[in-house]
Amino acid sequence: MDTAVATKALTQLHTELEDRLKRLADSVGRSEPLAKDSGEQALELENIEVKDELQREARSQLLLIDRALKRIKDNHYGVCIDCDDMISATRLEAIPYAERCIHCEEALEA
Ligand SMILES: [Zn+2]
Repeated sequence: MDTAVATKALTQLHTELEDRLKRLADSVGRSEPLAKDSGEQALELENIEVKDELQREARSQLLLIDRALKRIKDNHYGVCIDCDDMISATRLEAIPYAERCIHCEEALEA
């Protein structure tokens, strides 16, 4: 795996996620008081929950990206954190911040 390519992909992803978080924070900040109609209220609450979920997701991805960038610096990039095997290049192309090889990831999710 070419770490220069990975660094570029990770940095780009990082920027995208920060932009997304900024937009989400803006839209949360601007939210109007809850509507009087209970149906609309439910919808607004649902939107807030979706935003929360999106923010959580973006933040946890940012953490993974930071960790991946650190591993590149430490020359550990592409090495599974559980079994020390190399993570396949195709997997890293799809998920540049993957920390585990496909076997360990599957074992973890099972
Ligand atoms: Zn592994």
